[in-house]
Amino acid sequence: MAPKLILLDQDGVLADFEQGVRQLWLQTFQQSFPMQQRRHFYLRQDIAPQFHQQLSQIYATKGFFAALPPLAGGIAAAKRLLAAGHDVRICTSPIQEYRYCVTEKFDWVGEHLGEDWVNRIILAKDKTWVRGDILIDDKPQITGSLLPQWQHWIYDQPYNRNETHLHRVSWTQPETWAELLI
Ligand SMILES: [Mg+2]
Repeated sequence: MAPKLILLDQDGVLADFEQGVRQLWLQTFQQSFPMQQRRHFYLRQDIAPQFHQQLSQIYATKGFFAALPPLAGGIAAAKRLLAAGHDVRICTSPIQEYRYCVTEKFDWVGEHLGEDWVNRIILAKDKTWVRGDILIDDKPQITGSLLPQWQHWIYDQPYNRNETHLHRVSWTQPETWAELLI
């Protein structure tokens, strides 16, 4: 494939956001994360309202974003895509409670991908403003104020399986992204 501009989302594609929540929840509240089944993109929608305040507390905790574990195969995949000649960027939206989120997203990339990759971060609340050929993202619908130039490839997660019309990628299923390496 001719070199492409590939945008990789960070949470849910490179960083295991949900696992991070589970770990910090257990550590903070000494209880398991109160979720039965994952069906919605936003975790908040999959837990009872009485836990929403605690979830907000987790997101706002110093060190939460920095400590997210990498998603299986994600780091190696990003490096392989770059080595294959693509221009790979990390396109990520900080949460509203941005104080620690923004700096720790940078820290995370530096730690797990290397300091060079920090220059590849594009921070955007509205990803339709970012140019690219392909955006690999776990969010089912990515909307914004512009018509996107990229094609959305969905990163496979339990909560987005209803999205059947998008090309589906999983790092641990090499056939789903092998065409990018040719
Ligand atoms: Mg995401």
